[in-house]
Amino acid sequence: MKIYYEKDAPLAPLEGRTVAVIGYGSQGHAHAQNLRDSGIQVVVGQRPGSPNYDLAVAHGFQPVSAAEAAAQADAVMVLVPDHVQGALYREAIAPNLKAGDMLLFSHGFNIHFGQIVPPADVDVAMVAPKGPGHLVRREYERGAGVPCLVAVHQDATGQALARALAYGNGIGGARAGILETTFREETETDLFGEQAVLCGGVSALIKAGFETLVAAGYQPEIAYFECCHELKLIVDLIYEGGLSRMRYSISDTAEYGDLTRGRRIITEETKREMRRILDEIQTGAFAKEWMLENQVNRPSFNALRQLEKEHPIEEVGGRLRGMMSWLKKEQA
Ligand code: NAD
Ligand code: MG
Ligand code: MG
Ligand code: MG
Ligand code: MG
Ligand code: MG
Repeated sequence: MKIYYEKDAPLAPLEGRTVAVIGYGSQGHAHAQNLRDSGIQVVVGQRPGSPNYDLAVAHGFQPVSAAEAAAQADAVMVLVPDHVQGALYREAIAPNLKAGDMLLFSHGFNIHFGQIVPPADVDVAMVAPKGPGHLVRREYERGAGVPCLVAVHQDATGQALARALAYGNGIGGARAGILETTFREETETDLFGEQAVLCGGVSALIKAGFETLVAAGYQPEIAYFECCHELKLIVDLIYEGGLSRMRYSISDTAEYGDLTRGRRIITEETKREMRRILDEIQTGAFAKEWMLENQVNRPSFNALRQLEKEHPIEEVGGRLRGMMSWLKKEQA
C-alpha cells in the first residue's frame, strides 16, 4: 500500500489558489479551519439560516452560497450529505467550474456510481479522513492529524495527485499518513463495512441478543446491560489494541466462550449473506435502491426508522441511560 507523509505532500500546488469548502458540517468545519490555519485561502459555502452558517461566522468565515464559493475557487471540496450532492453539483457547482479546476470529495459514492459526472477538463480526487470531523480538527490543533485516504478519479492537469496530497496535508492528514486507494475501493468497502459490520451487523447482533434474553424471561434492564451497554468497553479495547488486547483483558471464561461460541453466531451462512450484500454494492443495485428511495421521499427509510425507534431496547435503554449522570443528555 502506498502511503504519503508530509515530505511527499507539499502545500505548494494549492498556494495562491482558493479552496471552496461546501457544507460546514462534521467534515466541513474541520477541513475549512485546518486549511486556513495551514495558510491556504478558504471560502466556505453554506446556506444562511442554518446553525452551521452561524458556526462558520463564529469561526471567522464569511460564508457564501455554494454557487458563489465554487465561482471564487480553483478547488471545490463537496462536503454536503451524499444524497444531496448530485443536485447541488448540477445547480451550483457545475456552472462555476472552469478548465483546470479541481473537484474534491471525502467519499466516493457520487462519482463512483455516476451521480456526478464532471467535465473532462477538471481534476477529480478524493481526500477522506478516517475519522469524524471533530477529531480531524482536534488532532490538527494538537499538531497531529487523522490518517486520510487519497484517490484520483480524473487527472486533467497532470497535477491531480499532487494537489489532492496538498489538500490532505493542509487538513493535517499527512502528519499521520495518507493512504492511496481508488474511488471504487473506498466506496464499496465503506458501504460494506457500515452495512455488514459497523451499523447493520452490530445493531442486529445487539437486538438479537437482547430479544433472546428477554424472551427467555430475563429482565430487559439486565439484558440491555449485557448485550448493549457493555459493548463500548469491548470496542474500546479492540480499538486500542486489536482483538488480542480485548482477549487479554477479559476473563478466561469470557475468552473461552468467545473462542468456542462466536463462530456459531457468525456462520458460513452469514458469510454467504455478506457476500450477497457486497454483490448488491458492487453491481450498483444498492446505490440505485437508495437513490430511488430518496426520489420518492424515503417511504421505506422512514417506516423502518420508526419501527426501530419503537423497539423495546430503546425504551429500556433510555431509562437506564437516564441513571448514568456521566452521559451527555440524550438527543431526541
Ligand atoms: P454533515 O451532515 O455533517 O454536514 C453537511 C453540511 O452540508 C451541513 O452544514 C448542512 O447544513 C449542509 N448542507 C446540507 N444540504 C445542503 C445544500 N443543499 N446546500 C448547501 N449546504 C447543504 O455532513 P458530513 O458528515 O460532514 O459529510 C460530508 C461528506 O463527508 C460526505 O461525503 C460524507 O460521506 C463524508 N465523510 C463524513 C465523515 C464523518 O465522519 N461525518 C467521515 C468521512 C467522510
Ligand atoms: Mg471555479
Ligand atoms: Mg466508512
Ligand atoms: Mg459511509
Ligand atoms: Mg458480563
Ligand atoms: Mg484474558
